[in-house]
Amino acid sequence: MKVRYSYLKQQFANSPDLWSRLKKFVSTGDFTLGKELKKFEQRFANLIGTKYAVGVNSGTDAIKLSLKTLGIKKGDEVITAANTFVATVGAITEIGAKPVFIDCDDTFCMNVKFLEKKINRKTKAIVPVHFTGYMTNMPELKRISMKYKIPIIEDACQSILASIKNKNAGTWGEFGAFSLHPLKNINVWSDGGIITTNNYNYYKKLLLLRNHGLIDRDTVKINGYNSRLDTFQAVVGNWLLPKARAIANQRIKNAKFYDQKFSKISQISIPPRPVDYKLVYHLYIVFAEKRDALLRYCLKKGIEAKVHYPKPMYLQESLRSLKHKWGDFPVTDSHTKKIITFPCDQHLSKKEMNYVVKCVRKFYNK
Ligand SMILES: *Cc1c(COP(=O)(O)O)cnc(C)c1O
Repeated sequence: MKVRYSYLKQQFANSPDLWSRLKKFVSTGDFTLGKELKKFEQRFANLIGTKYAVGVNSGTDAIKLSLKTLGIKKGDEVITAANTFVATVGAITEIGAKPVFIDCDDTFCMNVKFLEKKINRKTKAIVPVHFTGYMTNMPELKRISMKYKIPIIEDACQSILASIKNKNAGTWGEFGAFSLHPLKNINVWSDGGIITTNNYNYYKKLLLLRNHGLIDRDTVKINGYNSRLDTFQAVVGNWLLPKARAIANQRIKNAKFYDQKFSKISQISIPPRPVDYKLVYHLYIVFAEKRDALLRYCLKKGIEAKVHYPKPMYLQESLRSLKHKWGDFPVTDSHTKKIITFPCDQHLSKKEMNYVVKCVRKFYNK
């Protein structure tokens, strides 16, 4: 049996209604900052629970333009998590700021206990990453950010509709940054991203920054970028958005199934599942003994298991100038050797999940 990781072929295989919407849209020629985009932004803001949302051309740009809106520049420090995807760090370094890392805990998110020690006069923003669909401890992070008056940009690229006490990712910070990349829980057919905010001035500035700083055709107010979410992709987004809750719920259901089965295998341990937290399982990760051998076994058995990530971002060659070494972030480091990711998406069948469990059980009983 084969259990694929990517479900993209399935996702849009049977969607004649989307095709007819796209056909209709193409005939309007409303390609740039069009009506469908405006509609998508409003609906996205409604879904997450913020006043505004601004579509941009990637999740990376969602973080970058948020940093820009805050006026962050060369020489400033931005605190983020040691175990994130490259894009979080890329957004920070691209504007010349220095990423300052914090170790994670077993929730895969920044351990906010270590936060205050890293804050100094140069600290201009905190970018918590709600990694894997988990939530960073936002009540505590928010308390610290208010004490030091440092704004928060949530990297919510993996955590659309995740929440703590029913307050969604992307509503805690000054900004929430989301990705619409094909591999994310809510996706379009190309790169795409969207920023949530409740602040009118930030909203206005984001609108300028994503469109060359143009107020109108002939007036350039500030130096900006070309980072618009394509209106064509907003049509895809508008088609998918009504399914967002169902997608999150199905992933949660799948994860519960795995949790229950894996909890009976002593060599597997399941990360904490805090009661007030809603996790949306962009990645379903557990800790496994003999991880490398298990991974090889799964691949051999046709299961596309993965490791997110075998080498933490802070140790990558691109960040050599920061002079970090193995051991600087011990929890992140230890995770790289024991984490394994199994497919958990909304298109997975019970049969496939049963097969995954069966193979894992068989591996340890050998
Ligand atoms: C995907 C992702 C991003 C960036 O998204 P893109 O749309 O690919 O630019 C940023 N942070 C995290 C944690 C991500 O998973």
